[in-house]
Amino acid sequence: MMKNVDYIIVGGGYAALFFAHQLVMNGNSFLLFSDGCKGASRVSAGIVNPLVLKKFTTFWLAQEQIEFFRKTLTEIQTYTGNDYLIDEQIHRLFHDKSERNLWLSKSETEELGNFLDPEIKFLETIKNPFGTGRVNLSARLNVEAFFTDFFDYFKKNDSLSEEKFEYERISGSSYGDINFRHIVFCEGMGVRQNPFFSHIPVIPNKGHHLKVKLSVKLNHKLTLKKKHFLFPLDDELYYYGGTYDPNERPDAIDDFAEVQLRNGLSEFYPHEFEVAEVKYGFRPTVKDRRPILGNHPGHENFYVFNGLGARGVLSGCYFSKELFDHIENGKPLMPEVDVKRF
Ligand SMILES: Cc1cc2nc3c(=O)[nH]c(=O)nc-3n(C[C@H](O)[C@H](O)[C@H](O)COP(=O)(O)OP(=O)(O)OC[C@H]3O[C@@H](n4cnc5c(N)ncnc54)[C@H](O)[C@@H]3O)c2cc1C
Repeated sequence: MMKNVDYIIVGGGYAALFFAHQLVMNGNSFLLFSDGCKGASRVSAGIVNPLVLKKFTTFWLAQEQIEFFRKTLTEIQTYTGNDYLIDEQIHRLFHDKSERNLWLSKSETEELGNFLDPEIKFLETIKNPFGTGRVNLSARLNVEAFFTDFFDYFKKNDSLSEEKFEYERISGSSYGDINFRHIVFCEGMGVRQNPFFSHIPVIPNKGHHLKVKLSVKLNHKLTLKKKHFLFPLDDELYYYGGTYDPNERPDAIDDFAEVQLRNGLSEFYPHEFEVAEVKYGFRPTVKDRRPILGNHPGHENFYVFNGLGARGVLSGCYFSKELFDHIENGKPLMPEVDVKRF
């Protein structure tokens, strides 16, 4: 017997889950296909950050995206029962005096005053001779719990197919015995296999992270940032990552990336640590650093939601609503993110 759904979603990362959230909130039926391969989202740090931490600048719609993200998490809590916001701020370790001075002067500007805290703090256990600066409004998503709970919720509601989506099975607006009104493709770098959207210019940027056991634990739960991010996951393990590598790389751990991470951590953590896990993923990045949203020119009800780059949490959350409003209410897409810009 044919089954009817409002939407098919293909993918199981931030793009797919935040879009599914819009459907849950608006009472649309859907079936989400996730092949269980762990994409970039499941290895991400889940950091929500309004700054570019190399240069102490901000980015497009940062404040709006953070406010929207916080509101979205309270909505998700109404049906999963859990809060995924870890309200611990990033503390940026300064490399030298001049960096600290740059931070202080930027903290007085109108554009950045909301984000750069002018109080310089010195933390115990780690090397931070020039101190640290707090990024106000930054936070973390509890990545593991977020994905576990969402997938449990989908299963309970019969809206999950744990299979690879086979593009050749689409015929008109049906897929096998499923009729859909719309289909939204959220495959991250998997979009290269999608015959409808393989042309979108996403470039893989490979990132590795470590899970480490520290011999001397930190006496706080802050997110520390020097070259990479360090923060506690539970009583035992800390997350340290991720690296950035824009070159085409094989689907395997790169030893040099692990070395880079070990060295990065040793730079400010002066005690022994043990690496318990190394993982990697491919960020779907775009040259203009904007997501890619919109429909296929020949198939009006086929949509793409991709290009979340290094900011999958904030961009995935914010632009899922833009895409939803576009599809259901005819709201024009912002030209900056419209797939038609290519
Ligand atoms: C090491 C690392 C750390 C990061 N840290 C952060 C961070 O702290 N904060 C932040 O905001 N961002 C971070 N990112 C970036 C973020 O992870 C990405 O922007 C985001 O994951 C992209 O989400 P996505 O849903 O587009 O793709 P993905 O997460 O890759 O998800 C795509 C999913 O679709 C599935 N799929 C593909 N094709 C099919 C098919 N045919 N059938 C069924 N399923 C399919 C894949 O298996 C995959 O699970 C990090 C990335 C890395 C690698």
